[in-house]
Amino acid sequence: MTQETGGFAAFNLNPNILAAVIATGYEEPSAIQQQSIPIIMAGHDMIGQAQTGTGKTAAFALPILHRIDPAKREPQALILAPTRELALQVATAFETYAKQMPGVTVVAVYGGAPMGPQLKAIRNGAQIVVATPGRLCDHLRRDEKVLSTVNHLVLDEADEMLKLGFMDDLEVIFKALPPTRQTVLFSATLPQSIRAIAERHLRDPQHVKIQTKTQTVTAIEQAHLLVHADQKTSAVLSLLEVEDFDALIMFVRTKQATLDLASALEAKGYKAAALNGDIAQNQRERVIESLKDGRLDIVVATDVAARGLDVPRITHVFNVDMPYDPESYVHRIGRTGRAGREGRALLLVTPRERRMLQVIERVTGQKVAEVRLPDAQAVLDARIKKLTNSLSPLVADAESTHGDLLDRLTVDIGCTPRALAAALLRKATNAQALTLAAIEKERPLVPNNAPRGDRSDRPERTGDRPDRGDRERRAPVPLAEGRARCRTALGARDGIAAKNLLGAILNEGGLAREAIGRIQVRDSFSLVELPEDGLERLLTKLKDTRVAGKQLKLRRYRED
Ligand code: AMP
Repeated sequence: MTQETGGFAAFNLNPNILAAVIATGYEEPSAIQQQSIPIIMAGHDMIGQAQTGTGKTAAFALPILHRIDPAKREPQALILAPTRELALQVATAFETYAKQMPGVTVVAVYGGAPMGPQLKAIRNGAQIVVATPGRLCDHLRRDEKVLSTVNHLVLDEADEMLKLGFMDDLEVIFKALPPTRQTVLFSATLPQSIRAIAERHLRDPQHVKIQTKTQTVTAIEQAHLLVHADQKTSAVLSLLEVEDFDALIMFVRTKQATLDLASALEAKGYKAAALNGDIAQNQRERVIESLKDGRLDIVVATDVAARGLDVPRITHVFNVDMPYDPESYVHRIGRTGRAGREGRALLLVTPRERRMLQVIERVTGQKVAEVRLPDAQAVLDARIKKLTNSLSPLVADAESTHGDLLDRLTVDIGCTPRALAAALLRKATNAQALTLAAIEKERPLVPNNAPRGDRSDRPERTGDRPDRGDRERRAPVPLAEGRARCRTALGARDGIAAKNLLGAILNEGGLAREAIGRIQVRDSFSLVELPEDGLERLLTKLKDTRVAGKQLKLRRYRED
């Protein structure tokens, strides 16, 4: 065991859980974990104010796993999550942490998949049930006793659940659980509706909130880029092409990520190395020395490993993985902008982490501007600029040293000096792509590939760019998490506007405004995004709804 896992070891978790955490590569508990784990382990009810990206899943998963009895083959813990995606993510996290606990099984229960196998998995003795409220209620209707053995309940992203209209379902679920159970509620915000739930259903809860104090950040230009988690490496590679950096530090969350990213960078020819808690002290010092004197340009580090690292050459910090809290963000980006120099900090944000970005902006009192991935033209310009910079100092005297050789080679090969210079360029650039077409071909990412369609919390863009229709035909707008797209044959030619559809669905469907996503009205049809969970019930409710005098007849819409 490495010394830095001491942080997790101090909790006295079941050794099998600790072993799994170590295997996952976490070096130390995040702030929310530090505070929540002992409370939940001790059996208290708790309200945790934390958003995605703080490590909140492990903050409840580890102590809950510690408290269950693997020998008992019945549901013992229930985790409620607002969307199918989150439910799956949480279930996977539980499976990871329970990897070394023989006999512990996890079942994910959500809409859009057959009910039979889910119920069977519960009855077969899964100790952990991770569910969306709508589907769980469907199960309760079939078997009201199915949750009677649950003694730990976690409400994850409680505010999101309420926004999606799950209040009634939650009440049904509370009733189906033993009143003596432990209840833990996590929510990014604590509006009155959440506090009311806590008042009614939690017993003497302890509050955990990550304290944030305002921090000042000067001389550092900050920007963020929206990107899906699996596109981070390509995004980093694209950014490096256009960023004019001297030395750079990249922050990731796990040891494995330091190794993976450092080798991806090395493969592209960067002088990069990993720095993590497993690296011996003398090796660590060598890496830092190399970064100082230019033998290395990029270090990929975890927070723990980067502690005390002070290298004035660092012009850039890339936060490839989100820091756990704003303090750590400020700490990380403080690695640049040293000695009165200007620094630049880039933060990669996945769709689920946008809230964390807002918290960072609030705490630092600064806007972290959005940037897009460079397009092929920008990459080409940057590559040519680099080439120009590397060749121009040579031009002054290369002719005197190599001019005669050039003459001879053109004769020997029988080519023009232009053909020979071109051949030399190809060799010197390692056949790097140096035309627009070639760059477009080699790049897995296009700049507009960033997950814009996921931005359900942004005001919808109605800007009518001339290419909009064409763009949508080629690339359908991605659905936000937990949403299904539905279609009606009513469109603009029937005198329908988005607000008519919205009004009808709100009134007759009994949904909250936030539960309804994007509405697109076309000439002969319209598309509406609705919550996946409970969709069948909603469509049945809307069966006889009329809009502008015509039957709505809303159906699930499948693009394929
Ligand atoms: P969450 O806020 O629960 O969505 O977690 C965000 C990410 O942080 C997940 O990818 C976790 O695997 C990771 N994570 C959680 N706790 C730690 C930790 N102590 N050290 C490193 N990574 C962590």
